[in-house]
Amino acid sequence: MSLKVLKFGGSSVANKTLLFKVANIIINQYLSGNDIVAVVSAQGKTTNELVKKSQEINEFASAREMDVLLSTGEQASVALLCMAVEKLGFKAISLLGWQIGFGTDSEHQNARIKRLTTKRIRKELKKNNIVIVAGFQGINDWEDITTLGRGGSDTSAVAISAAMNADACVIYTDVDGVYDMDPNKFPNAKKFSKISYDFMLDLTASGTKVLNHRAVEMAKKYSVEIKVLSTFTENEGTIVSGRVHK
Ligand code: ADP
Ligand code: ASP
Ligand code: MG
Repeated sequence: MSLKVLKFGGSSVANKTLLFKVANIIINQYLSGNDIVAVVSAQGKTTNELVKKSQEINEFASAREMDVLLSTGEQASVALLCMAVEKLGFKAISLLGWQIGFGTDSEHQNARIKRLTTKRIRKELKKNNIVIVAGFQGINDWEDITTLGRGGSDTSAVAISAAMNADACVIYTDVDGVYDMDPNKFPNAKKFSKISYDFMLDLTASGTKVLNHRAVEMAKKYSVEIKVLSTFTENEGTIVSGRVHK
């Protein structure tokens, strides 16, 4: 049995229809004989809306309280996705950062991952559950909730892939791969079928947000091959690995 880590970004789970679409993607891969750990972001623009809400209350809100607030976005989306999977007749369980020992430093809103215990995830997989993990969030040594910085769910997925020695780490998003320019802004942008960690790091360093910079750094460090695919099309995506030289 192989283990797949599948990450779904905010636009992939933005509403009811999409939650069921994602649930079906997960179930199909589960039925093909894979153990599935899905890592999920907050729905749509939820994180931005939570930031806006906080500013209406206190523009100097502490980073600690911002993390308590922003992490609720992912808490809601994992529960809803689990409910969708269960509605389709399959067993699923949601897990938050603290429940999987997703240990980070204390730099609230930009925390770095220090350790990760895979025991709970493995226990749930053994029970044939589809495991749905909240991205972006962790816990520090004082049991305070932390977040990894904007776009940090990618890093959660890569960290879990590395810790569990997953057979695949797939980042599902709203574009069908990594391009030389933002395909939403430049219709002539060219898609890469394969790209090296270093080239991808050059792109993320210059602001390309299709993957989070720290996620790519971590993928390179632990040799996690990332596949970027679209939630909305069947198109071939982009593989980010150490083996190609572009
Ligand atoms: P998610 O919510 O799935 O994490 P993001 O919004 O973080 O998705 O990243 C996907 C977006 O990245 C795309 O909608 C696209 O507009 C943007 N993007 C910017 N540069 C690129 C690029 N070079 N290749 C692909 N997508 C890019
Ligand atoms: N929800 C967080 C954000 O909007 C994390 C993520 O989407 O990766 O930045
Ligand atoms: Mg993202």
